[in-house]
Amino acid sequence: MSAAIYLDYNATTPVDPRVMQKMLPYFTEHYGNPSSQAHMYGWAANAAVEKARLEVAQCLGASRPSEIIFTSGATEGINSAIKGVAEVSSQKRRHMVTVRTEHHAVSHVCKYLEQRGWDITYVPVNEDGLVDLDSLRDSLTDRTVLVCVMWANNETGVIQPIAEIAELVRGRGIPFMTDATQAVGKIPVSVEDVDILVCCAHKVYGPKGVGAMFVRSRIRCAPLIDGGGQEQGMRSGTHNVPGIVGMGESFRLAELEQAQDAKRLSDLRDRLEHALLGAGLGIQINSAGASRLPQTSSISFPGLNLERLLLSIRTLAVGTGSACGSGKRTPSAVLSAMGIRNDVAAQTLRISLGRPTTEGEVLEASELLRQALDGLYNKAA
Ligand code: PLP
Repeated sequence: MSAAIYLDYNATTPVDPRVMQKMLPYFTEHYGNPSSQAHMYGWAANAAVEKARLEVAQCLGASRPSEIIFTSGATEGINSAIKGVAEVSSQKRRHMVTVRTEHHAVSHVCKYLEQRGWDITYVPVNEDGLVDLDSLRDSLTDRTVLVCVMWANNETGVIQPIAEIAELVRGRGIPFMTDATQAVGKIPVSVEDVDILVCCAHKVYGPKGVGAMFVRSRIRCAPLIDGGGQEQGMRSGTHNVPGIVGMGESFRLAELEQAQDAKRLSDLRDRLEHALLGAGLGIQINSAGASRLPQTSSISFPGLNLERLLLSIRTLAVGTGSACGSGKRTPSAVLSAMGIRNDVAAQTLRISLGRPTTEGEVLEASELLRQALDGLYNKAA
């Protein structure tokens, strides 16, 4: 592959070599099935899964490792939690609350429930993408069985006031769930204020296809996947042992390195933003008025043809704030919910830095962007 500068770490991260080292023996040497409790291969695999469970629990501040359930990723965890809570709820209480800026993994599950007669409230956000707490409070009823608010947004990086939301929701005795997929490893995350938390490994320098959900033991939640009864019956299927080992190590490292990564990457992100803002091109940094993930920048380029910009920065691997299907860009629902005009939302890039990002890469990226923008804005003028 040609050497593009990778600045799309919110989409996924490379596996940290230290994580890879820990995983390798579980493909070829310790390949037992953790459920095989009659021999040492199974015991070794089971011990590795339980060690990883402890590491994940520790990183999330969960005092009971048994409340951690391994899944195939955040999408599965979200489906399991929301559908699992829905399944055990009485017919009379079919109401859930979520926010307009959730990831599709949440919003599409909510749509699925709506099609089955559930009443879902989508709480609005302000211009920075922060949840409107008054609307959230007003949306809670005696029928509400779950409130789901993401910890940090994948597009803008905006961080929701989880403790305040928890106070409102749990104060009413309603279970509170958070999708912490983008928050873990980037900011301090703890299960203290929540009843259900979902995350995955591949955003934290672990492997793809593995994740975890924390479900507080008092929360009633039916399993999504039935079968051999693994994970205390909450998630059947043979464990992805190398993946789980990788997740454990990546979360152990995240706990150790989060603060220093955050400091370094927010400095670099700020330098990139200042360089672009300083060029006087009328760009707009989204969610800049709120607390954001340290390594995320959502930048709108009003009036610019995004396709042309992407063509002229082909050596930069960045995300867009929109989906491109059949040649047409659909503006991001997240940016639209923040009141950003559709045409501006469709002219937005998401730049996300990661542990391997160097100062040189950021300087090169900002220079490339400035040159491309200069050219494009001058042409447009
Ligand atoms: N939730 C958020 C906020 C995400 O950013 C993502 C992935 O982009 C997901 C959920 C889905 O995660 P996974 O790829 O592990 O299914």
